[in-house]
Amino acid sequence: MKIAILALQGAFAEHKQMLDKLGVESFEIRQEADWEKEKDGVIIPGGESTVMLKLLHELNLFDKIKKDIETGLPVFGTCAGLIILSSKVDDPRSPFSRIGTMDIDTCRNAYGRQLGSFYIEEQLKGIEPKVPMTFIRAPYINKVGEGVEVLAEVKGHIVAARQNNQFVTAFHPELNEDTHIHQLFINIVNEYIAAK
Ligand code: GLN
Repeated sequence: MKIAILALQGAFAEHKQMLDKLGVESFEIRQEADWEKEKDGVIIPGGESTVMLKLLHELNLFDKIKKDIETGLPVFGTCAGLIILSSKVDDPRSPFSRIGTMDIDTCRNAYGRQLGSFYIEEQLKGIEPKVPMTFIRAPYINKVGEGVEVLAEVKGHIVAARQNNQFVTAFHPELNEDTHIHQLFINIVNEYIAAK
């Protein structure tokens, strides 16, 4: 198994460390040629969604990544990654089109400036102990479409969801020691490999 990690901006190095811990091979996507390598999944990290989208378009990565996700390549989007995968975002000013493959309606910078960053331990469906969740100027999901399973809620808002091979969290699981969330994504990738 090999996982591609989008490494244009944001917290990508920490995702690699988590995969290293789980013994999963990964490599960084920095330019168009990197996307040609064999991969079984992709991680879109947290950071600044508008900057990442601008770079995705400029580097000719946008259409390629979108097409592969549309045809089933497993994707794990955290925070800005969640925003990038959302079909709808309450941000009319954003000038770049999003990948938008997940049927979720997202509120960007949802917690406002003051409450933008916080830490909590909460239940996530399919994982036994509560998992640490670090939110940094995080979005949350307002509404999910029919095929989307809600996996976690915090303070009355949806913060993790799955739609087939697409998995998103509004928080940053790569910033804590706990590897359960990354393991969950690896399980999705294993299902995908087995079904191929
Ligand atoms: N608020 C950021 C955005 O709009 C996301 C923050 C994060 O990824 N930690 O892209």
